[in-house]
Amino acid sequence: MSPRPPARRGACPAFLAPMETGDGLILRLVPAERAISPDQLRGLARAATAFGNSMMEITARGSLQVRGLTAETVAPLQDAVLALGITPRVGLAIDISPLSGLDPREVADARPLARLIREGTAGFAGKLGPKVSVVVDGGGAIGLSGHKADVRLIAVRSGADARWSATIGGGMPELLAEQEAATRALDALSRIAALGRRARATDLPGCASTPLANSGDGGTPSTPLGTFPLVEGRFACGIGLPFGAGAADLFAALADAADKAGARDLRPATERVLLATGLDAEGALAFAAEARRLGCLTAPDDPRAFIAACPGAPACVCAHFPARDLAAGVADALAPLLDGTVTVHLSGCAKGCAHPAPATLTFVGMDEGIALVHEGAPSGARGPVIAVDALAATLATLAATPHAPGETGRGLLARMQEAGLLAGLWLREGNDRPMVKT
Ligand code: SF4
Repeated sequence: MSPRPPARRGACPAFLAPMETGDGLILRLVPAERAISPDQLRGLARAATAFGNSMMEITARGSLQVRGLTAETVAPLQDAVLALGITPRVGLAIDISPLSGLDPREVADARPLARLIREGTAGFAGKLGPKVSVVVDGGGAIGLSGHKADVRLIAVRSGADARWSATIGGGMPELLAEQEAATRALDALSRIAALGRRARATDLPGCASTPLANSGDGGTPSTPLGTFPLVEGRFACGIGLPFGAGAADLFAALADAADKAGARDLRPATERVLLATGLDAEGALAFAAEARRLGCLTAPDDPRAFIAACPGAPACVCAHFPARDLAAGVADALAPLLDGTVTVHLSGCAKGCAHPAPATLTFVGMDEGIALVHEGAPSGARGPVIAVDALAATLATLAATPHAPGETGRGLLARMQEAGLLAGLWLREGNDRPMVKT
C-alpha cells in the first residue's frame, strides 16, 4: 500500500481534510495520473458504500467526490483509496486535459509542462491557498476554457512548433517557449505564496484585479460527451453522470461496462463526464449504449448537459431548495429552449458551487424562495423570488413562449428580459403564491 500523503496543512484540503456538508463530510479525489482502472472504480464504489452514504459525484473540474462520511470513516476511506493503488493528487491543483498525450488533435502534450510546475512548486505548495490553481491546456479536443485559473497556459501553434500563451491573474497573455512558461508560472506562484494563503494571482503587483484568467470565451465549457479519436487508432468515449452524481452502484456498473467494452482505463473529466479510453470503435459504441441504458448522458444535445445543479437540500446545510432533485424536471420543462445556446444553473444558495460562472438562467435559493438571474452568476441574485412549488409551472409558461423566426433559445430569453417578461413571470408567481421554504 502506498504511504498516506503527508497531512501538510493546505496541501490538499479536499482529500486530506474533507468538508462538512448537510449529509456529512465530503471527500474530493483527483487521481494523480488522471486515470483509474475499472477495478479501482469498483473498489472506490465499495468504499463509498462502506464508509460514506453511497453517493458519488464527478465535479465540473473533473474531480471524484464521495459523500456522507463521518469523522470516524474519513481515515478508513483514505486508506481504502490508497490500498486500491490510487494516488491522490496533493499540493497545487494543476488541471490538464484528461486526454493529454493521447489526443491526436492537441497542439502540445500538457504533461511535461505540468510536471515542471508540480516539481518546481514542491518546496512552497503548502504556502499557497487551497483555491490557487493552474490550467495547462494543450489545445486538444477537450478544452479547459471554463476553469478559472491563477496561471493559465494554453498551447498555440507557432510554425512547426508549439508555444504557450501564459496569463497570470487577469493580465495580458505572453507567448513563451515551454521552459520559459514554466519559469514564468513558478515565479508567479512563488510570489503568490509569499503573500500568504489568502492571496490569489490578482493580488500580485501589476496583475489587474480583473477576474482570474479563463480563455476569454465567457467561460462556457464544452462537455466532452461522445466519441473522441485517440492515437494508435483507439477511441475514448465520454458519458455524463446526470447532474454529476450517482449512487455507488451506478459507478460500479459503469466500471463493469468499461471492462466489458475493453477499456484501458477511466478518467473523470470536465463537466461531470467520465471517459473510458483505449476502446476500439465497437467498444466505444457498446460502452455508450450501456451508459445510456443506465440513465447517463451520451450525447452533447441531451437537455441535461446544459444544466448544472448543486446537491441542494437536504445534502447541503446552506441550501434553500432541493436543486439537484428538481434538475431533471427543469431539463424537461425547458427542453424547447435548450438548443445549445442556453446554459441553466440551479444553485441551492448564492455561493454557486456547481457553476460559479454566469449562466443564461440561474435559479438561486434565497431565504424566501427561488430568485432568477438572467445572464449572471448566483452571487447576483436579488428578489423577487417565487415559491419552490411554483417553479415547474413558471418554467412551463416560460418555455411555451414562441420563438421568433430563426431565433435561438438565448435570443428568445434576451428578448423576454428586455421586454420585462422574465421579471414579470417571477413577480406574478411570487405575488400570488405562498412562499415555501424547504
Ligand atoms: S451552492 Fe450553496 S447550496 Fe449548493 S452546494 Fe454550494 S453551498 Fe450548498
